[in-house]
Amino acid sequence: MVLGLIGFGGLGALSAEEEVNVYSHRHYESDEALFEEFTKETGIKVNVVKGGDDGLLERLKQEGDKSPADVLITADAMRLTRAKEMGLLQPIESEVLEEAIPAKFRDPEGEWYGLTKRARVIVYSKDRVKPEELSTYEELTDPKWKGRILTRSSSNAYNQSLIASQIAHHGEEKAEAWAKGLVENFARPPQGSDRDQVRAVAAGEGDLAIVNTYYMGILANGSDEDRAVAEKTAVFFPNQESTGTHVNISGGGVTRHAPHKENAVKLLEFLASDKAQKGFAEGTYEYPVKPGVDVAETVAAWGEFKEDDLPLEKIGEVGGNALQTADRAGWK
Ligand code: FE
Repeated sequence: MVLGLIGFGGLGALSAEEEVNVYSHRHYESDEALFEEFTKETGIKVNVVKGGDDGLLERLKQEGDKSPADVLITADAMRLTRAKEMGLLQPIESEVLEEAIPAKFRDPEGEWYGLTKRARVIVYSKDRVKPEELSTYEELTDPKWKGRILTRSSSNAYNQSLIASQIAHHGEEKAEAWAKGLVENFARPPQGSDRDQVRAVAAGEGDLAIVNTYYMGILANGSDEDRAVAEKTAVFFPNQESTGTHVNISGGGVTRHAPHKENAVKLLEFLASDKAQKGFAEGTYEYPVKPGVDVAETVAAWGEFKEDDLPLEKIGEVGGNALQTADRAGWK
């Protein structure tokens, strides 16, 4: 497998080798093992270009019909809906994908498909917070949490998606008031990654962090230091009595001008297979989208939860307003 920017352009033309070119926002090493497995099964080589959030969308747009990309993989649904809006994807029909992936986790027109799920949860300090004190995202604006909440910047897609879900449920005005209330309770100005927020809770900089579930899985199975962080903290699934916990997907679609469309479909179908779904669950501690595939042991220990049933395309629709809402609320 060729990583990085070198390796495209001409490689395919020089050899008769079957290949598929992937533009991926995902930054998890275990994906590479899955791609290798795909190559082993099909003989199709996977070339990966990793890139930032909107960078890959911009690149696809610039490249137009000259783009070597066959598959776009993102780490959140909003980028997939945006890619669709920008005309960067094409609809595909696949019984395999339709059967494996529940309707709410794929585009109704078949332009993108969710491959993994992640919940955006509240992680709390076991020493300083009792789970009974927690209930909903909305309740995090209560003055009792003043100076105690940690989360990353609103420029981050995961937070934009959470804000978008607030907009979709309550309207923009209420979502802005919520964001403002949350900012008032921040322990520090937003900085760092999801994992850094949990580390800061363990270090006593704050008491609650808003983070994606799999980062807790990664910490709990990481270095001694990270394991100690995971020991001091616990996962809480918010909104169990109301709308359900906000979930997002990582997923992919076939690009509009895919030179290897058939291989692209094959790759997506492989990633939705039991074997790959299990690989995601074990490798990154994400939730498989395919029903019936087991989660990792660490993840199972958190218990089951009710997820928000808001269709992800709905989040995509209002997601464009999330950043401005955050800006107005002073969420850096
Ligand atoms: Fe992530």
